[in-house]
Amino acid sequence: MESESQSNVFLCMQCGMCTGSCPISGRDKLNIRKLVRRKQLQQGAKEFDIWFCTSCGECLLRCPRDVKPLEVLINERSDAVEAGKIPLSIQKALESTFVQKNPWGRPQSKRSAWTEDLDFEVPHVRETRSKRLLFSCCIQAYDPRCMSIPVNVARILHSGGLEFGILGTEESCCGNEIRRMGEIGLFEELKEENVAKLKENGVQEIITLSPHCLTAMKNEYHEAEITVVHYTEVLADLIEKGAVSLSAPYRKKVIYHDPCFLGKQNKVFDPPRKILQAIEGLELLEFSWNRENSLCCEGGGGRMFYDAEDSGERNSEKRVREALRKGAEVLATSCPFCVMTLEDPASEKGIPVKEISEIVAEVMGETS
Ligand code: SF4
Ligand code: SF4
Repeated sequence: MESESQSNVFLCMQCGMCTGSCPISGRDKLNIRKLVRRKQLQQGAKEFDIWFCTSCGECLLRCPRDVKPLEVLINERSDAVEAGKIPLSIQKALESTFVQKNPWGRPQSKRSAWTEDLDFEVPHVRETRSKRLLFSCCIQAYDPRCMSIPVNVARILHSGGLEFGILGTEESCCGNEIRRMGEIGLFEELKEENVAKLKENGVQEIITLSPHCLTAMKNEYHEAEITVVHYTEVLADLIEKGAVSLSAPYRKKVIYHDPCFLGKQNKVFDPPRKILQAIEGLELLEFSWNRENSLCCEGGGGRMFYDAEDSGERNSEKRVREALRKGAEVLATSCPFCVMTLEDPASEKGIPVKEISEIVAEVMGETS
């Protein structure tokens, strides 16, 4: 994504395309068009809850004048961070990232604990021939629900004969959410440290497990000059080449939710679908709002750390409702943020949420 300096509020013609397409605008918390107008008039954002934005990127796609409304909002948050006027939970996440390199403040020494569940050794990336790095992401390194995702992906890629390594306890937050929470200085620091580490270890390619890391490293780590891909792109390719075979059937109706950071922001729409379609017996269903028009689950942009007071129906609840209406038996996605956000309403309604790698691991008999 572009830097804040590239937003230009004076190009705005107040057409309202941004607000009209914003997935949270119906809930009276934030009106992005009005925020841009207030910036034109050099007024503050007082009447809005700037922490409600999920940084989905929809307004960037829709704005006909390339104003970059999301960047205007990140700029607002940056001013709030500098003034120390931020919600306590956001402040905690930022401080924890400064100290422990992850927003939960978990020890960096435990960053590669997920590898203990593997029955093969994953080398440090500097010891690989390919210099291909599997980057786990903070959530998947520490959250008990999501830790199975790197384990499954590592097993699948390993069984497909792909060589890769990790940074282990040297891995730090990519800074994607940090920048979107307005701590631009800390993001720049993380980026600088990470780029130096990638270069020092001769990394040639990064496979990210989270679309949020993909966005930061692919679109904002310009200095790195390294190929960055999401694991679904690699896996779809391995399946197509016949290196990974999905032998057992999965006789279920599966509906796929496009994560904003993978779809809208990086245009990765087909690889996750190709993976699911390659599984025998699996019937792939689509949401009425899919691909570029996918409805944001509301997990990104710091919303994971911000408990907003909100009485309206959440988008994750709407997603689960539609999944059930369409007859889905499984709600699949390819992002740990979406898994965490969708799982609450889904478990209430009795429909499982699965990250794509969990389905693949199941049909390959590689489940963790
Ligand atoms: S879409 Fe762009 S031009 Fe239209 S109101 Fe929003 S910021 Fe202004
Ligand atoms: S990034 Fe998404 S949630 Fe934030 S203002 Fe733009 S459209 Fe709304």
